[in-house]
Amino acid sequence: MLQKVFLSDFDGTITEKDVLVSIMEHFAPQEWKEIYKELLSGKIGIDEGIKRMFNLIPSIKKDEIIDWVLENAKIRDGFEEFLDYLNTKEIPFVILSGGLDFYISQILKPYLPKIHKIYANKALFDKEFIDVQFIYKCGDYCNKSCGVCKPYIIHRDFKNFYRYYAGDGITDILASKHCHFIFATSNLKLYLRKENIDFVPFETFYDILRVLSKKQ
Ligand code: ZN
Repeated sequence: MLQKVFLSDFDGTITEKDVLVSIMEHFAPQEWKEIYKELLSGKIGIDEGIKRMFNLIPSIKKDEIIDWVLENAKIRDGFEEFLDYLNTKEIPFVILSGGLDFYISQILKPYLPKIHKIYANKALFDKEFIDVQFIYKCGDYCNKSCGVCKPYIIHRDFKNFYRYYAGDGITDILASKHCHFIFATSNLKLYLRKENIDFVPFETFYDILRVLSKKQ
């Protein structure tokens, strides 16, 4: 039997709202919206879009952003119980996020001992404006300039696993195609329906937990 792994998106999946978008709404000048539109439509690469959006925010805002996300980001209900269940079953929980490491690790601080690994873009604060370093670029599996390329990571590090996946948005379609069992929320449900890919809908981690414990 294959070893199982649970792969999950972060923004809008673990959290109720997209934290990256909330940071932009709160800290960036209006130009971010035009860049985000181009990113979503595929006119520019995801990596270029993320970089240009964060380039709009001064590095000096780092601590203020962290305080703000800790105050405002809400994790979906049942996350802790869900992690406990996976730990009991020895199923590693891995985050594949196109967001930035600095806010993800802060929001997830209480849960870090129960999380196997977080793949995300690296935020840099050593220049006047925030910059982004891309560590997991697309290999042969993808041509979308992801920044954090989920198909690339899946094939490099989790090829021989039975792969669960949870996601909410457009960047999760491709990842879903490379996984065995999909949990979807928000817009990802519509995209997967359109592409005839099977999934289980969820709103909280209790929903996922119920399905997993029946399946094991
Ligand atoms: Zn990619």
